[in-house]
This record gives sequence, C-alpha cells and structure tokens, in this order.
Amino acid sequence: MSDMPDIATVLASVLAENGGAVTPPIVQTSLFSFESYAAFEARMSGQTNTAIYTRVQNPTVGAFEDLMAQAEAGEAAVGFASGMAAISSTLLAFVKPGDRIACIEHVYPDTYRFFERILRPFGVEIEYHTASAFEEDPNLLSGVAIAYLESPSSVIFRPMNLSRVAEHARHHGAITIIDNSWASPVFQRPITSGIDIVLHSASKYISGHSDTVAGVVVSSHAYNARIRDLTLPLIGAKLAPFEAFLLTRGLRTLKARMMQHQATADLFVDRLASVPQVREINSPGANSVPGLMGRSGLMSIEFDDSVDIRAFADAVRLFRLGVSWGGFESLLLPARVGLAQAGLHNSMQTFGVSPNLVRLNLGLEDAEDLWADFETALIASVT
Ligand SMILES: *Cc1c(COP(=O)(O)O)cnc(C)c1O
Repeated sequence: MSDMPDIATVLASVLAENGGAVTPPIVQTSLFSFESYAAFEARMSGQTNTAIYTRVQNPTVGAFEDLMAQAEAGEAAVGFASGMAAISSTLLAFVKPGDRIACIEHVYPDTYRFFERILRPFGVEIEYHTASAFEEDPNLLSGVAIAYLESPSSVIFRPMNLSRVAEHARHHGAITIIDNSWASPVFQRPITSGIDIVLHSASKYISGHSDTVAGVVVSSHAYNARIRDLTLPLIGAKLAPFEAFLLTRGLRTLKARMMQHQATADLFVDRLASVPQVREINSPGANSVPGLMGRSGLMSIEFDDSVDIRAFADAVRLFRLGVSWGGFESLLLPARVGLAQAGLHNSMQTFGVSPNLVRLNLGLEDAEDLWADFETALIASVT
C-alpha cells in the first residue's frame, strides 16, 4: 500500500503550461471551435484529442481528473455532477439485463435505491452480503458480473480486506467497484490492492468545504474509455468547470484535513471507550484491515437505552444536525431520523440499524471543544 503522492508536486505538473498561475483557470465555455475544416475533421475522426464540447471534455475538469487519477494510483479519471452520477454512470456502463451484482450490506442509502428502483426493474439481480462473507467465501462471486463495495460500509462502518476480495473477484472474472469516499486516497488507495474501479462522492472529503456536490471515478484506461464512450456522453451528468475548480482547491488541503479529522477521531474513540452509556463504537482505524492507513472523522456510536437521543440531538451546540459529511463543520445524524425517512427501499430498515445509533461527522473545529460539547449534551440527556 503506497502513500498518496504529494498534491502540490502533481498540481505543479498539471499546471505547467499555465503562465505561472498556481490554480487552474476556470474555462467557462460550452464549446471549443476549430481553426480549419481539416482540424475539425481530424478531431471528429479521432486523430486528435482536443476539447470539442464541455459535456465530455473541459480543461478545468481535466486538471481535476488528472490529479484524482494520480491520487488514487489509477491511469485515468472522469468527473461527474454528483457522487450518485458517478455511481449510476459507472454501473450502467458495465451492467446488462440478466447480470448479477454482489453488493456490500449497509451500502450508501441512495446507491441501494439505485439498485432496487432502477437496476432491478431492468432485469439486473442484486444480492447483498456482509464484509466477512466477501472476504471468507471464495465462491461468493461465482457468476457475478460486478462486486460493488464500500470499505468501510456506510452507517456501521465495517471495513473489509480489499486485496482478498479483489483476488476472489479476479478468479471469477467479476469487476470490482468501490466507493472510497470515507477513507479518501490519503487513507486508502484500493487500486493498489487490486480493485478495478474507485469512485467518490467528491461532495465529501475531496471538496472538504460543504460547498459543492460532485463525483469522480478512477480506473484503468480501458474502463475509463468505456465510461467516456457510453454513460458520460449519453447520460450527460458531467462535472462543471467551476465545481472542478473547487475540487482541485479541496485536494490541495486534503491530506492536512484528513490528519486533523483523524486526530480528533482518535481522541473521541479513546474517550468514548470509558463512557458507560456507549455500547458500541464503529470507527475503523489504521491497519484494522490491510491497506487502511488511517481513521477518518466519520463514525457511529450506539448508546444504551438510558440516553434520550432526541434530547441529546437538541443539546449539542457545536455539532449541527444534518446529512452529508466531510466538510469543516461537525454534524450529528441520529439513525432514528434515517429509519423514519419516507419513501420506498429504506436501507436502514432493510439491513437493520439500532435506533440508539448516532452518526458523528467530526469536523475541523477544536477537538477539545467538540468533546466538551458532546459530553455536556450527553450528561444532559441521560434519563
Ligand atoms: C454522499 C455519498 C454518496 C452520494 O454522493 P452525492 O455527491 O451526494 O451524490 C455516495 N456514497 C457515499 C458513501 C456518500 O457518503
């Protein structure tokens, strides 16, 4: 498992022909014109590869994609308008009716809905397995087209041994796709463990500032070419130049931010261990599985029945209540809010989550201030 390359160095090479500017220009154009018929025809017939139209190619987006490909140890990357656009556009590029997908349990709720509400009615079979089933059953992926992974999973944050799962998948010819939003390339680079395709909700740690919604997919040239040939142009959920600019800005501080998220999360895990009302702490740390190099700031804890979760949620001051994560601000998401979410296919109900569970996004505020806020609110809400 190798470390993420230094972003400043990579950025310098990406920006080499940029007249000394240290950030990429925002090329806010829809189309790129040609100087001659010959140049136009050469581009359309594939002899050259300059940008034609921003739905498929844009220099600001390209700079971010180059950075992400190197950060994730892949050959190429493609940006999308959201994490869900990255997920749906990747799956639709590789799946066909009759295929079977093996998916991790407690997968991100909208990914679960994409499987159940869009792919299943189109004749794709989806089955859900635990992390240990993926690791331990060498025949789990027999006849499976795609293994769709999260490590750790959402909500309960169970990690898995990715090299072992990648080995099983290779044996059965299944394509492996992982959502690496939780770890970011600072703490986990799944391609170096043999995973085929890595994708992100870049709305989270990659952006890091809760100011954009975006996604990105990193893979080999061959897989990248298929996505660029099929779903990027034909579904058209492209990353916009301004969003790409924000993500490149985010990448420059990614490592520094991840280190502070980890320091705060380490402090919480350490102190939570001696809080009597805490039944379980879900927060995998460095080396809890091979290839995982750190602990991010997103964790969940399960309280015992003595804690009034509603009172706790109303008592915290520094933690805000809300979905999403990965930005500056700390957030609290009680599982009972997720369990109560209206609509079809509620993954928290399907896979089962304790109503006493709360998810914490530990942000970049002072760690001692955050702990004091947590502790004060907890004391006030024990019945
Ligand atoms: C938020 C999230 C997504 C979806 O990403 P969007 O950018 O909101 O579309 C996917 N996977 C995980 C793990 C997430 O947290």
